[in-house]
Amino acid sequence: MDWGFPRWRGYESAREAAQVRLCDRYGCTEPGDCPAPKSPSSPERWYFCQKHAAEYNAGWDYFAGLTAEEAAAREHKERQTHEGYHESAHYGWAGSGDGSRSRDELRALEALGLDPDADFDAVRKAWRTKAKEVHPDVRPGDAEAAKAFQTYQLAYEVLRAAEERREWRG
Ligand SMILES: [Zn+2]
Repeated sequence: MDWGFPRWRGYESAREAAQVRLCDRYGCTEPGDCPAPKSPSSPERWYFCQKHAAEYNAGWDYFAGLTAEEAAAREHKERQTHEGYHESAHYGWAGSGDGSRSRDELRALEALGLDPDADFDAVRKAWRTKAKEVHPDVRPGDAEAAKAFQTYQLAYEVLRAAEERREWRG
């Protein structure tokens, strides 16, 4: 797992050999020269290559390559970081709601087709409906369906973990 930690290596371009930061996307070996805020009010940044910056911004394959457990753990970590900063959302992300949800949560809500202020009942309902449609038992051998199922599972896992933490805090 490289998420959250800067990676460096000697990168040899045609013209020069220089020390460059690698893309933070799991498994990517391209130079990461496109900064992206980790969450709406966090000064911390991911550094992605152009392709993965675009993907991150588009938000769709954000969870690709992560297991549900890893996604939930990352969400947890991101939220801790997020809560360490009580400034207003000065990076101006559109659609970030009231700032009480982490970027991973917003991604997850988007994946389930929900609004940023959807409550957990809505999350559970959307997840059940969507996951049922693409469940491997219903769509055996369908790679697209399997991918969608994985995405819904991860999204649900992230939102469930976030909901539990809210309950613990009262
Ligand atoms: Zn990349």
